[in-house]
Amino acid sequence: QDIHKYSGIVEDCCCDYETVDHLNEEVLHPLLQELVKTPFCRYFKVKLWCDCPFWPDDGMCRLRDCSVCECPENEFPESFKKPFHNGLSSDDLVCQEGKPQAAVDRTLDTKAFRGWVEIDNPWTSDDETDNAEMTYVNLQLNPERYTGFTGPSARRIWDAIYTENCPKYPSGEFCQEKRILYKLISGLHSSISIHLAADYLLDEATNLWGQNITLMHDRVLRYPDRVGNLYFTFLFVLRAATKAADYLEQAEYETGNPGEDLKTQSLMRQLLYNPKLQAACPLPFDEAKLWKGQSGPELKQQVQTQFKNISALMDCVGCEKCRLWGKLQVLGLGTALKILFSVDGQDHMGQTLQLQRNEVIALMNLLNRLSESVKIVHETCPKIVEGPSCP
Ligand code: FAD
Repeated sequence: QDIHKYSGIVEDCCCDYETVDHLNEEVLHPLLQELVKTPFCRYFKVKLWCDCPFWPDDGMCRLRDCSVCECPENEFPESFKKPFHNGLSSDDLVCQEGKPQAAVDRTLDTKAFRGWVEIDNPWTSDDETDNAEMTYVNLQLNPERYTGFTGPSARRIWDAIYTENCPKYPSGEFCQEKRILYKLISGLHSSISIHLAADYLLDEATNLWGQNITLMHDRVLRYPDRVGNLYFTFLFVLRAATKAADYLEQAEYETGNPGEDLKTQSLMRQLLYNPKLQAACPLPFDEAKLWKGQSGPELKQQVQTQFKNISALMDCVGCEKCRLWGKLQVLGLGTALKILFSVDGQDHMGQTLQLQRNEVIALMNLLNRLSESVKIVHETCPKIVEGPSCP
C-alpha cells in the first residue's frame, strides 16, 4: 500500500521530496552522522542558566533525563579555551564601493576564513562574545529525546513563539518573506516532535525507550504542512551551509587531535562539495529572490527582531536539555539566516562572512537533526497503515 506519496517540489524551495529523501539517505545523513561525532562538532558552548526575560521561571520537568551533563574542564579541547585572535585586517573594515545595489550576489568571498573570531550574531539574543557563565556540553552525551517537559509551561513557549513572533501566514499570502519565519520555526518544531517521539520513554517502570509512532503521527505526520515545513527548513539550512562552503572548507578544526581534525575537514569537504548534491539539487533554496521589493529592508528588519525574540524565549524553556537543544538549534537557524541574509554583498557593501566556531557547531548539528528527522519521516510514513496517513 503506497501511503508514502508526498511528491513534487517542496514549497518555496528548488528540489522535490523524492530527491531530498534520496540525497539524504545516500549522502547527507551518513556524512552528518560522522561529522557530529568529531571532537570539533560535539562540544557546544552554551549559557544554560539565564533568567527568562518574559515571565518568572516555572520550569517543570519530570524526568532525570531533563538535566544536562556538563563537561569537566579537562574534557573539551584545549584550543576551545584559548581566547580568539581577532582575524580582522584593516582591509576588511573598508566598505567596497561600486557594487551595484540591485545586483544579486549569491556568492561569498572565496578567501573568507581568517581565523575564528568573536562576533555577535545579529539574529540571536545571546551575546555570542560574552563568555561569562558559558559551559561546554558534550552533545553526544546529551541526546535530544523525550524529557517529559510538557503541559502549560511547554505550551506557553510555543504559544509565545507562534502568536507573538511568527504568526501563521494567512492562506493566499504570496509574500514569501512573511512565510519564511513561520515555516522555519514550524519545521524546527516538527523536528523536535519527531525526535522526542523517536526516542520516547515507553514504559517508565522498566525504563523502556523506543519509537512512539502514534505520537509522531499525531504531532507531525498527519499534517502535510508540518512535514513540508520540516523539508523546507532542512533545505534552507543546507543552502546556508553550502553557500558558506568555501569559508567552512578553509576553517580551522583544530582540537589538539590531528587525526580527528583532518577527518572533520574531510567530512566538511565531502558534504559541502558533494557532486551528487550539486547534480541533483544545486540550489536547495534561492535566497536571492527575497527582500527585493521596496519594503524589503523593512521586512528583513521585522523578521530579524522577531527571530531575536524567539531566541530570547529559549531562556524560558524550563527543562535543561530542551533548553540546550532549543538554544543550539535556534543559534543554528540564526547562523543560516546570517549566512543567507546578512552577508551577500547586496546590502552590506561587500561585508565578508565571519562566523564564530560555536555558530558553525550549531549549524552542523542543526543540519544533522533535520537530516535525522527527514530520514525518520521517510522511513516511518509507509509503516502507518491507518488513519489519514502521511502527506
Ligand atoms: P506542542 O508540541 O507543545 O505544540 C503546541 C501547539 O503548537 C500544537 O497544539 C499545535 O497547535 C502547534 N504545533 C505543533 N507542532 C507544530 C508544527 N510543527 N508547526 C506548527 N505548529 C505546530 N520535549 C521533549 O520531550 N524533549 C525535548 O527535547 C523538547 N525540546 C523542546 C524545545 C523547545 C524549544 C520547546 C519550546 C519545547 C520542547 N519540548 C521538548 C516540549 C515539546 O515540544 C512539547 O511542547 C511537549 O511535548 C507538549 O506537546 P503538545 O502535544 O502539547 O504540543
